[in-house]
Amino acid sequence: MKTYDKLYIGGEWTPSSGKGSFDVVNASTEEVMGRIPAGNAADVDRAVRSARAAFDPWSRTTPAERAGYLLKIQAGIVARTKEIAETIAAEVGMPIALSTAIQAGLPTVTFGSAAQIATSYPFEEQTGNSLVVREPVGVVGCITPWNYPLHIVAAKVAPAIAAGCTVVLKPSEVAPLSAFILAEIIDSVRLPRGVFNLVSGDGQTVGEAIAGHADIDMVTFTGSTQAGKRVSEVASKTVKRVALELGGKSATVILDDADLVKAVTAGVQDCYLNSGQTCSACTRMLVPKAKHDEAVRIAKQVAEAFTPGGAFDATTKLGPLVSKIQQERVRGYIKKGIEEGATLVTGGPDQPANLPKGYFVRPTVFANVKSAMIIAQQEIFGPVLCIIPYDDEDDAIRIANDSNYGLGGAVWAANAEDAKRVARRIRTGQIAINGGGFNPTAPFGGFKQSGRGREFGKWGFEEFLEIKSLQL
Ligand code: NAD
Repeated sequence: MKTYDKLYIGGEWTPSSGKGSFDVVNASTEEVMGRIPAGNAADVDRAVRSARAAFDPWSRTTPAERAGYLLKIQAGIVARTKEIAETIAAEVGMPIALSTAIQAGLPTVTFGSAAQIATSYPFEEQTGNSLVVREPVGVVGCITPWNYPLHIVAAKVAPAIAAGCTVVLKPSEVAPLSAFILAEIIDSVRLPRGVFNLVSGDGQTVGEAIAGHADIDMVTFTGSTQAGKRVSEVASKTVKRVALELGGKSATVILDDADLVKAVTAGVQDCYLNSGQTCSACTRMLVPKAKHDEAVRIAKQVAEAFTPGGAFDATTKLGPLVSKIQQERVRGYIKKGIEEGATLVTGGPDQPANLPKGYFVRPTVFANVKSAMIIAQQEIFGPVLCIIPYDDEDDAIRIANDSNYGLGGAVWAANAEDAKRVARRIRTGQIAINGGGFNPTAPFGGFKQSGRGREFGKWGFEEFLEIKSLQL
């Protein structure tokens, strides 16, 4: 049991002004595994005052000084890799080997990369008689989700600090414990007081207090499109900068001449990563009509090898969902797909018989899905793949773009040039060509209702900079 009864504000562990707390639940066992304070608007206010006081001196440090702290934080995360991986595997339900590589591994890359970018970034350029300088945007509020809890915290906190900003972080109340571990690491490296502040709590109370705070210059939010819209609305009253990383309904497009076994196998694996709880997951698979049945046969076989089980069981290929709410939501969508007339190929809405406890959902594949169906339009956020047949390349592109979202995607073809040609016509922020892997230094973000702004690499760093011109 990991109990945190204090917030981290102004370089100190301090009690919340609120009285309540949130239980953190183990997704595989349904047991309470931790507890955190339910902060409130007064806590946010205190955190903002400390971040504001720290901003001026921190913004005047050199990039090399800031990079020095970032590298110490990176080393602190590396030293606590096992604990971080186990904590997130328990909270979120991701199998421990994957949790170690992804949930604990990626944040170290991001802190290292932010240090490298800060020290190599050209902060000044000349145009005509003007010197254009880039300065930190100010106090940044960060609001993050539960699915990749530390990875997404790192995506915001590392570049913000690297740019010379100070931050107030509100992690998800569903999987908050790794953010507390990060606060302990930051405390241990003696980052100047107030540069990093942690206020835990729920979205309506703490999240909206951050979004609406008059002395926060920017809010960066990752989560559902619904909550992102609310954050934008609340933030608009103060005209602060708003960055949003929201939901997705991405498509794997398999062209006629692609290696079908390879493409379908990779597509199912991508869809089921983190039990389908990945914003950029390719949850739609677009296949030529003539190859639909063969694709379905391959997908069924791959899906059925995704043995559900607890996050710490070595035979597990598919962990549970994060919570009862998510489990119910995803089962509801599976029932909806059956009602809408899609063909249930494997899986279904029932709890796996051998796993009566834990928020498990069976690996599910629907075939003969039509693009207008709810299961093809809404983000399900579970291990549910929709296979959609298409007529020709133009039809495939039309279906891929038939979405309010525009986050990710994949294109498979015999020739990479053909895949790139199709990828350029798909309106999303990133697309994998013939299985190209995730790159944590490339820009990540959405078109359409998947968001605004980019994270990672120099593009993510620039989100935290203001531009000033000095006329000479
Ligand atoms: P969520 O929107 O419920 O919560 C995200 C965060 O926002 C949490 O910290 C929550 O407390 C807070 N929040 C909720 N309501 C709020 C409000 N009214 N004002 C301010 N803050 C509020 O999302 P979730 O369930 O934690 O995460 C799943 C969602 O996140 C999915 O839709 C997924 O696609 C999306 N996501 C997007 C990306 C991306 O980079 N695009 C990455 C991961 C997850």
